[in-house]
Amino acid sequence: MEENKSGTIDLHVHIFPDRMFEAVWKRFKSLGWGFQEEYIEQIRQTLIAHGVVRAAGLSYAHKAGVAGSLNRFMETLGRSDPMFLPFASVYPNDDDFRQTVDHAIESSHLYGFKFQPLAQLFDVNDARLDYLYERCLEADFPITMHIGSGPTASKLVGINHFRKLIRRFEMLRICVPHMGWTEFDEFLRLMDDHPNMFFDTAVINIVDHRLDSRYPVPPQRLARYADRICFGSDWPFVHYDYQTSLDSVKRFGFSPEDCQKVMYDNAVRFLKIDIT
Ligand SMILES: [Zn+2]
Repeated sequence: MEENKSGTIDLHVHIFPDRMFEAVWKRFKSLGWGFQEEYIEQIRQTLIAHGVVRAAGLSYAHKAGVAGSLNRFMETLGRSDPMFLPFASVYPNDDDFRQTVDHAIESSHLYGFKFQPLAQLFDVNDARLDYLYERCLEADFPITMHIGSGPTASKLVGINHFRKLIRRFEMLRICVPHMGWTEFDEFLRLMDDHPNMFFDTAVINIVDHRLDSRYPVPPQRLARYADRICFGSDWPFVHYDYQTSLDSVKRFGFSPEDCQKVMYDNAVRFLKIDIT
């Protein structure tokens, strides 16, 4: 995979200001979750060392009043470091929610919205978010939405939430991380009727002493969707090294042509970037 001729684009890398990273790590430690203690500069070095040329930088506001400053931080990073294509965060309770949405969509250094309902504790069908979905449709602005039930189920994630949303906003450009883990088959079926739906491969097909996230769909069936599956690592929130993420993609059984799409081309289309 790393011999990819254009390099690799990683559609799922976590970026936070140092102090927020430290708060997240503290929480992960208390839960016994494995992760890599890397700040942004170290993450950058890891990506470069593995042939990654661009990475979607994902962040999220975990409480009210944080999204605006977090998005400014992300925007500054996007302006100063071509490695990172930062995503914006929103929090529906914020008084300036609509301004935050508008600002992100109009920014030339923010590339999409990231939703993490497990940590942000909002319902993706909360009526206040309809404004964001309508604006995203108008602007063809993407969303990466952690909405599958893996690795952690909750009443705020799962296929039923996503079905309800995608029925209301059928043409939203949404990436579902982790191939829809754990409802792999249900999410894959939705792709047939939703041409703007994408997946990322983060944390799937990892087989080690702590995890077995083998993808159950056979390569012949998956090949139909090879234009909308993008490599993602979830770095640095994983307990294994970066090469393991790259190697995990081989287990999907994609052809060499489809591998090129998964490792690079599909992300260019999802992000609508021009880096040639
Ligand atoms: Zn993640």
